[in-house]
Amino acid sequence: MKFGGTSVDGAARLAAAARVVVSRRTERPVVVTSAMAGVTNALEALLSLSRRADRAGVDARLEELRARHLAVAAELAPGDAALAARLEERLRDLRVLLRGVRLVGALTPAASDAVLGHGELLAQELFAAAMAAADGPAEVVDARRVVATDGRHGAAVADQTETAARAATLVAPLAEAGVVPILAGYVGGGPDGAPTTLGRGGSDLSASIIGLALGARRIEIWTDVDGILSADPRVVPAARLLERATFREAAELAGFGAKVLHPASIDPAVEGGIEVVVRNSLRPERPGTVIGPSGQGDGGARAVASRSGLELLALRAPGAMRDATFGAEAFRRLGDEGLAPLAVAVGPLGFEFLLPEGEAAGRAARAIAAWGRVDRLPKLALVALVGEGLAAAPELWRAALDACGPIRPLRIAQGPRGASLLFVARDEDAAPLTRLLHAALLEGRP
Ligand code: ADP
Ligand code: ASP
Ligand code: MG
Repeated sequence: MKFGGTSVDGAARLAAAARVVVSRRTERPVVVTSAMAGVTNALEALLSLSRRADRAGVDARLEELRARHLAVAAELAPGDAALAARLEERLRDLRVLLRGVRLVGALTPAASDAVLGHGELLAQELFAAAMAAADGPAEVVDARRVVATDGRHGAAVADQTETAARAATLVAPLAEAGVVPILAGYVGGGPDGAPTTLGRGGSDLSASIIGLALGARRIEIWTDVDGILSADPRVVPAARLLERATFREAAELAGFGAKVLHPASIDPAVEGGIEVVVRNSLRPERPGTVIGPSGQGDGGARAVASRSGLELLALRAPGAMRDATFGAEAFRRLGDEGLAPLAVAVGPLGFEFLLPEGEAAGRAARAIAAWGRVDRLPKLALVALVGEGLAAAPELWRAALDACGPIRPLRIAQGPRGASLLFVARDEDAAPLTRLLHAALLEGRP
């Protein structure tokens, strides 16, 4: 059972989360917790203040974090000196790490990861306190010793075999003995034991890595909305709940920007054939969205997602399509910059790659310019209409194109196996296009 930032934000929310866990005790739950809402962002801010040697700024922000966590602790467990001491110890470690960044005046990926994981390391103590207050036996287990990763800072990949072995000794026996293990999400340990993170939003991924490692029956993602909706409710207020979604639909939505799930979080579930349920911790009586091998089964489109901050690299290189080595070389150059394209187009006159905007894309543009002229189209977004049924319903492609109305997508494509229709649009058109597609294909029955 993974609880997101809003679900653990403050004593009342933590108490509610603990009640949900306790009510499921006979199912031997394991808890994965995020940092309290906004804390990882605050840690990012602390990193940049430290690098700029802004001591007053660091002290003020650190004190805010300290006061916030101690206040929650005092509310959950008044007079619990041991809990306060554990929090203070984490905060001391954090202060030392930040001082290191300030003295060196530079930010290494290792130092960054060590700092960023502290939100979860603090939250796990608060979650354990909430469990104790709800009469639920629980124990914190250090996720950095359980989730074994390849050590790639900021985007670590789990070694599932090693993690399973560790979970079998460090996590499973507790659960079997009726004690709820509480693990920090987002963090793991590299081959040398150094703390790594799984990338922003990575607590969802922690839940599925740990779920697969334990052979869990179900992975539950407890968040601040009723489940997977037909669009981001902040963009489309009329978005509706999906009662069921297929693994592929959920993976495509997450990969194409639906923040409710980390893009990689469905993979371990697919590997283990484990059902994922997305539920609302603020309304635990609601059933949520069940993600599994089969979906709602009525065909058609299911949801729209979007990702902004992208750019298109358009390479004009006649003949590249016929050159069997070009594709491999081009992908290697992108890979050298840590870039994986979100979409690719190939034709007799050249290639196009849709990439996250930034300096890396600029370097990649220079690298592939060896083959021909490269144009960079910045400030783009990808809007994805997703649904298993799309592949077999060309009438819906037409409806989707018609729905664009006054908005002219720059490119249109289908995702693998036809389960998504992709529109590359200007960044500022992403939200209006999302609303148009939603209105035409997901409200009522086209
Ligand atoms: P948590 O802290 O629980 O991990 P997140 O903020 O990471 O929560 O994800 C939940 C948020 O994802 C929702 O509040 C919602 O704004 C956003 N979201 C984007 N797309 C969707 C979608 N299709 N369905 C549900 N929520 C979505
Ligand atoms: N706290 C981390 C983040 O904000 C991980 C997570 O919440 O999933 O990115
Ligand atoms: Mg999240």
